[in-house]
Amino acid sequence: MVGTCVFCRRPITGERGAGMNVRSARRLFGSTPPAALAVTDDAGNERWFGHRGCIGEAGDRVRPPSRAQRREALLSRPFPDSRAGLATLLAKLELLDQAGYAALTEAQRNRFHDLSYVDELIAGGVEVEPALRTRVRIRQLGHHLNELGGKPLMREVLHLAAAPHPQVLRAVEMCWDEIGDWRG
Ligand SMILES: [Zn+2]
Repeated sequence: MVGTCVFCRRPITGERGAGMNVRSARRLFGSTPPAALAVTDDAGNERWFGHRGCIGEAGDRVRPPSRAQRREALLSRPFPDSRAGLATLLAKLELLDQAGYAALTEAQRNRFHDLSYVDELIAGGVEVEPALRTRVRIRQLGHHLNELGGKPLMREVLHLAAAPHPQVLRAVEMCWDEIGDWRG
């Protein structure tokens, strides 16, 4: 027996366990595991043990969200109240949009550039194809800013967004064409 598994508290026998140093034990366990279960090695470092399967499950719980999950979270995030929050969201959406553009088919690109079609999608009734969701959200954000503070607010938020990411400036200017007094 190697010790007791810090996750399921059952004994670990044979080769089915693995040791964790204090750093990985904290990360996987969520806090420092009970000192009573620690084993001090010859060098004086505390180690905890777990079944390989239990360690794997704990790892799945703490693993960072996938690219698809981050994308979904970004697309479904409500518009923030602060200008800084709006600018950060705008920059992230535009960078995501640019990253996905290369994979669009020619037909999708035509719809992407057809801003009245994008406005129809915003108006609702038609399901938005996944490839156009960032584009729709960016233009929706433009409409939102226009309603809140017109062109001056749109410009302010866009410039805040573009300060650390200059590559978003021109693309958003064009995406917002003909929203209120905005001309891209
Ligand atoms: Zn276990």
